[in-house]
Amino acid sequence: MTHDQCDQCEQCAQPIAAYDAIHYGAAGGGYRLLCTQCFNAEVAKRYGLTGFENVRLEPIRMVDCAGDAHQFHFQMRLAGGNMLVLDAFEIQGELRAGYEFRMIGNPDDDVLTLLGRLVQKMRRALSVKDLAADGHQLRISDQTVRGRISSDMTGPGDTPVVVVDGREISWDDFGRMLTAFEGWQFRLQIIDMADEP
Ligand SMILES: [Zn+2]
Repeated sequence: MTHDQCDQCEQCAQPIAAYDAIHYGAAGGGYRLLCTQCFNAEVAKRYGLTGFENVRLEPIRMVDCAGDAHQFHFQMRLAGGNMLVLDAFEIQGELRAGYEFRMIGNPDDDVLTLLGRLVQKMRRALSVKDLAADGHQLRISDQTVRGRISSDMTGPGDTPVVVVDGREISWDDFGRMLTAFEGWQFRLQIIDMADEP
């Protein structure tokens, strides 16, 4: 699909960007493509969630410790009747790319409080860099690397890419960075998106 073919929400008929589209399992089987707002309205209705604020959060700009600006989009999504998932992410084209953060709450939570906690987490992450430039090459600046495991859309599909400091690093490049530590040990810990890396 190219970017100028825009999908439409099957509920409100508004055009939806890929990062804001959710396939919702309809009661009679099959799926409907909904925007996040309509998806939340459907879930709230199904679970009788009267205290849920179905608000749309506008993008914000934040500057990292190197002085680079990042634009973050938000998606707030009900996950069943007792969980609220708030994501902040950068986009490239219509897809999530770069930094991505998650905060979990419950449907009765005050959205601005939850957003405030997420922004705190984003600030903490943007205030440090785990990679440093060495000429044209990147290297691990200290002895800890935090990032996200992602997939290589252009590759064969069985090799991950990692996103460190909001930048996509190929598996080969990441391997090359590790050669600087030959003879050392390491500990690899897998952490849920909602937790602190
Ligand atoms: Zn809609």
